[in-house]
Amino acid sequence: MNKNVNSQYHRCEYRHNNFLLHEHSNLKEFKHDGSNQCWMRETKKIEDKYFCAFHMPENHEDEECQKLQSLTLRELIEEWNADKEINVFLMFGMRCGEIDFNGITFKSDAYFNESTFTGDTIFNKTIFSGSIHFGKSTFLRNPQFNKASFANNAFFDNVKFIEGASFGEATFYNNAIFFNAKFSQLTYFAESIFRKDAMFSGAKFNGYAFFYRCLFKKICAFESVAFNDVTNFNRTEIYIGPDMGRCSFKKAPSFHDVSMSQSVIFREARFSDVISEDAAANYRTLKVAMNKASNKIQEGVFYGLEQASLRNQPEAKFSFKLFSRLYEKSSNYGQSLTKPIRYFVSINTLFFFIYCCIKFPMTRIYEYVNSGLPNFGDNLSLVVSFIFSNIPSVFKIGSSTLVKDTFGDLSSFQQLLVSILALSQSLISITLITLFILAIRRIFKLN
Ligand SMILES: [Zn+2]
Repeated sequence: MNKNVNSQYHRCEYRHNNFLLHEHSNLKEFKHDGSNQCWMRETKKIEDKYFCAFHMPENHEDEECQKLQSLTLRELIEEWNADKEINVFLMFGMRCGEIDFNGITFKSDAYFNESTFTGDTIFNKTIFSGSIHFGKSTFLRNPQFNKASFANNAFFDNVKFIEGASFGEATFYNNAIFFNAKFSQLTYFAESIFRKDAMFSGAKFNGYAFFYRCLFKKICAFESVAFNDVTNFNRTEIYIGPDMGRCSFKKAPSFHDVSMSQSVIFREARFSDVISEDAAANYRTLKVAMNKASNKIQEGVFYGLEQASLRNQPEAKFSFKLFSRLYEKSSNYGQSLTKPIRYFVSINTLFFFIYCCIKFPMTRIYEYVNSGLPNFGDNLSLVVSFIFSNIPSVFKIGSSTLVKDTFGDLSSFQQLLVSILALSQSLISITLITLFILAIRRIFKLN
């Protein structure tokens, strides 16, 4: 475009704060005298200064200006493409209405950093031969990049997509950088191909995140991403990762028929959905994937989420809900070694106090106050050995000799009460020991 620059054209006065000229070797060839001012045929004089249609002060934008934008930008790109010298296309901080780049080719690097796209923005089947830079830009309408191909790095870092974004069947031949991008409404990446690294860390998806049947050939980084709606990665192929560490998922993410690498990471990810209809199935899929990757801890996390989701389904039976809840509380679905032990100790301590109350009835409290507990040490050791002998002898509970040896003569009601208590103590203790052993097995088993 600069080749045809003629002195009769006015220079646009817009200056961009973060002009990158010195940082980018390609840009040295840029002919605009090392400044970031753009040359335009059509400029408007505003208070002694000239501005192009893309950099007009906001209160001076009018219909005429918007018409100029859509016509001129395509024209400028075509002119730039025709220029034999390879320069970069610079349009920092522009404000642009409707544009249609359907099928157009960008011959080299193009910079649209910190721009605002206010109208329909169409890049369908566009070929970006150089790197493309949209860093910190805002798209007010759903931009379309369907079937676009990005031959070099594509920078969409910190971009705000206010009304969704479409990248269906797009191909990223180099790195796709979407760090801290904010996606609202539907984000459509179905059947996109990422041949190099896909970097989405820190991004926010406030609408449906649709990554159906994508192909991630290199690093697939989604660290600390907030998925605030449905997340669909079904039938996606991922060669490295995905790294979903510290992500938050408002709805159970769907990863059905995904081929993931062994390096898949969900460390410290937060899942807040255990009620939606497909939550259990979604967690089950992830559980199986973690099992394949031999990631025991994460497998356990997804197993727990699956169980909690099943419990919340309307058709879940009461007994299932009860035992599921008990299993969660007592050992966190077999994930916790310390929980069963803690419960074992505290429950048996409780029974010890109950047995003591039977051994030393409160009705004789005056007697104890006056002359102390009778044979305190001996009686205490009797109760303790009663506790221990109960634990393994669930089928011998209530054997009258054992009860008699410990508590002396009891009324038949008291004898029945002690038998029931002993049975409960034994059953609970055996269950907790079993849960402890199962947790050891689950956590340390080889495969
Ligand atoms: Zn300008």
